[in-house]
Amino acid sequence: MTGKELQKQLTWEFPNAARKTPEQIPQAEEFCKGYKEFLNHGKTERECVDAAVRLLREAGYREIDFSETYKPGDKVYRVNRGKSILITTFGQKPVREGLRINGAHIDSPRLDLKPNPLYEKDELACFKTHYYGGLRKYQWATIPLAMHGVIIKKNGEKIELNLGENPGDPVFCVTDLLPHLSAEQNERKLKDGIRAEELNIVVGSIPYADDEVKEPVKLKVLELLHERYGITEGDFMRAEIEFVPAAKARDVGFDRSMIGAYGQDDRVCAYTALIAEIECRNPAHTTVTVLTDKEEIGSQGSTGMDSNYLYDYMGYLADMEGADIKDVAANTCCLSADVNVAFDPTFPQVSDPRNSCYMNHGCVLTKYTGSRGKSGASDASAEYMAKVIGIMEDAGVLWQIGEIGAVDVGGGGTVAKFVANLNIDVVDLGVPILSMHSPFELSSKLDIYNTYKAFAAFYR
Ligand code: MN
Ligand code: MN
Repeated sequence: MTGKELQKQLTWEFPNAARKTPEQIPQAEEFCKGYKEFLNHGKTERECVDAAVRLLREAGYREIDFSETYKPGDKVYRVNRGKSILITTFGQKPVREGLRINGAHIDSPRLDLKPNPLYEKDELACFKTHYYGGLRKYQWATIPLAMHGVIIKKNGEKIELNLGENPGDPVFCVTDLLPHLSAEQNERKLKDGIRAEELNIVVGSIPYADDEVKEPVKLKVLELLHERYGITEGDFMRAEIEFVPAAKARDVGFDRSMIGAYGQDDRVCAYTALIAEIECRNPAHTTVTVLTDKEEIGSQGSTGMDSNYLYDYMGYLADMEGADIKDVAANTCCLSADVNVAFDPTFPQVSDPRNSCYMNHGCVLTKYTGSRGKSGASDASAEYMAKVIGIMEDAGVLWQIGEIGAVDVGGGGTVAKFVANLNIDVVDLGVPILSMHSPFELSSKLDIYNTYKAFAAFYR
């Protein structure tokens, strides 16, 4: 045997998907059309739930009724407070033999309004914000922002806000200094380039035409808000308003091989999970596709995975057939569908090249997350890794391994550890992303397509 032959036999390499399976390029292109639509219509967790419900109802799903009896192949969903959703296709095996759960998150880093946001200073009206999730504050200045969210008026009426997305809409922005006058600001550390209390959004500059009034620019903004939405300043305290990048999802590169968009962490896994769920017919095990909220701030809260809402739903499914929830959990397998950091040739120092994921090398299987000595990690067992790798290889899915950066450089977590706490086997699987948590994240269409294929195979 030559050295070359032995090398081929004994060493391992993750192939480039465009080389290995060029026939997937047009398939991925087609699949990603729906994904871009989903991104453009789902810029908040509430909007993603609404977009998911529309797709589910078109596909014949109905709201679950726990007093009903369902048969294999029946498709149902349950919305939790408008911000997370659980979706099920009933399987041929009893629930006692375990569920197949796939959980992705639909919240993304953004600028939330403070409860009392509107002020006027030096004849400009602005909103005070409180950033949500891990973001690099300097990236959020001088880009067009759109306003999304809800206001619950005193009479209970719900006003839905969506301004800055249509071509005729105004947009909003955070200002920054010009280079001519930024010498002192330039000496700040990058993390302080724009400070949290400098993330103020400009919303108006014309004064109300009455010389007697103090803060006439603020008053003019309030007048316009009242005309448009019927609200007054006090209504901001009964609201959830999020400012997000106003740009649409775009193809990136001369070869159009990538997608650039806000919120791909983790709507890329939410969309692929959703389509795999919708297309799943007569699975062996009952599926639970979870699109969850609050992951970016630690999963706390009634719509996040650190709450009981998933476990309670599993409990209802167990009760419907008289099974013990403890048996159901012990027999259940889960994918934590989330993105990982793609190797960036411009910043190679933060990654271990042998254990990084790369654009166009398929979906990324992440054995553990966490920081330092695997602190805060859910570390999947060898047995469960073998199971998930086997499912992917049997289905011809192109996959690769990944870590959240080199050891001790940083790290992060996902919903995996909260699922693991329920006595469920879980591992992270998702899409490699460049510029994660920025207003314009990059993904590869081939990686997205292979992630969808992996999720579909997991449910089969
Ligand atoms: Mn994520
Ligand atoms: Mn994230």
